[in-house]
Amino acid sequence: MIRVGINGYGTIGKRVADAVRAQPDMTVHGVAKRSPDYVAVGAAEAEYPVYAADEDRTDGFREIGIDLAGMVDDLVAESDVIVDATPSGIGAQNRPLYERHETPALFQGGEDATVAEVSFNARANYDEAEDADYVRVVSCNTTGLSRFLAPLYENYGIEKARVTLVRRGGDPNQTGRGPINDAVPDPVSIPSHHGPDVQTVFPELDIDTIGLKVPTTMMHLHTVNVTLENAPEDIAAVREQLQDEDRLLTIPEYAGIDGAGTLKDFALDAGRPRGDIWENCIWEESLTLEGNDLYCMQAIHQESDVVPENVDAIRALTGHLPGPESRALTNETLGIDSGRLSKRDELAIDRQTAD
Ligand code: NAD
Repeated sequence: MIRVGINGYGTIGKRVADAVRAQPDMTVHGVAKRSPDYVAVGAAEAEYPVYAADEDRTDGFREIGIDLAGMVDDLVAESDVIVDATPSGIGAQNRPLYERHETPALFQGGEDATVAEVSFNARANYDEAEDADYVRVVSCNTTGLSRFLAPLYENYGIEKARVTLVRRGGDPNQTGRGPINDAVPDPVSIPSHHGPDVQTVFPELDIDTIGLKVPTTMMHLHTVNVTLENAPEDIAAVREQLQDEDRLLTIPEYAGIDGAGTLKDFALDAGRPRGDIWENCIWEESLTLEGNDLYCMQAIHQESDVVPENVDAIRALTGHLPGPESRALTNETLGIDSGRLSKRDELAIDRQTAD
């Protein structure tokens, strides 16, 4: 069993903890929490051993009835791997702590790429993390783009990718973030940081990105144009290749899913924890081929798409399983079934044939 410690128990940390708990080869050794708040109560109720990140706040945990298992230093010493899910920039400050205990660690996409030896995406470069001690799981947007681009890169080659990222203003619990009534170029300069970030996974890829922020908390939306080196036979061939990918959910027309709101409703109906959508959500009707130019629109659930990637990165870092096996196990244990909607299409066709 790989003992996993989670340092930083917020939006990403709590989801990663639950995903780790669902794995047959890992256990949550504990979670380090800074504030004795409702999320700390949730961690204790989930029976995760709680470690304090901050000496000055230990009394606060006792006052709300949480018995601490120790300090973050103890968690790092006792764990086989640390998942650092602290806010952007804090992970880099924590690296000396992990080095002191010789505990390998994962960082998140809010950190600079220099925080780790490898910027990781399970579909694109799992093997590169196998010899590393420190790995950065790339951001939600970079994860979504890497998953989409990897099969195109392999099957057709990519001359150039151009992406506009319409980003959610904040997560649902980020009450202070905006905009509240605007569409804001963010950043106004081009390219946005997303293109260079995708290049940390695909160093040779020619990609330009433009970013903006809008007043929603639900999901990001990407409009993608990829000029392929070799033209696909037709759009159906591309669609089938994308449907064969395990973390790409293609949305058929019949489903009536017309935006992030219906996607979240679909996820809640499907009983997904917290309404999470771990897969890229690609509208099938948007997949269009004009010569060598492929177009599409996809939605990315920022709070959860990196969660299966963290689980796979733990296995890569510890040399526990090869990539395809790890991905399959993660998918099975979390209930990631990207074919759910497409299979219904097949069922309908089967039924018509039977009639
Ligand atoms: P968050 O603010 O929801 O959670 C961070 C948690 O860490 C909070 O509970 C905070 O109290 C705690 N914390 C702060 N300082 C700490 C310290 N010194 N030691 C221990 N804990 C500390 O943040 P998040 O959204 O979960 O983001 C975490 C990382 O994941 C960032 O790098 C972020 O860029 C990345 N990420 C976030 C998203 C997203 O949409 N939320 C998506 C992908 C990646």
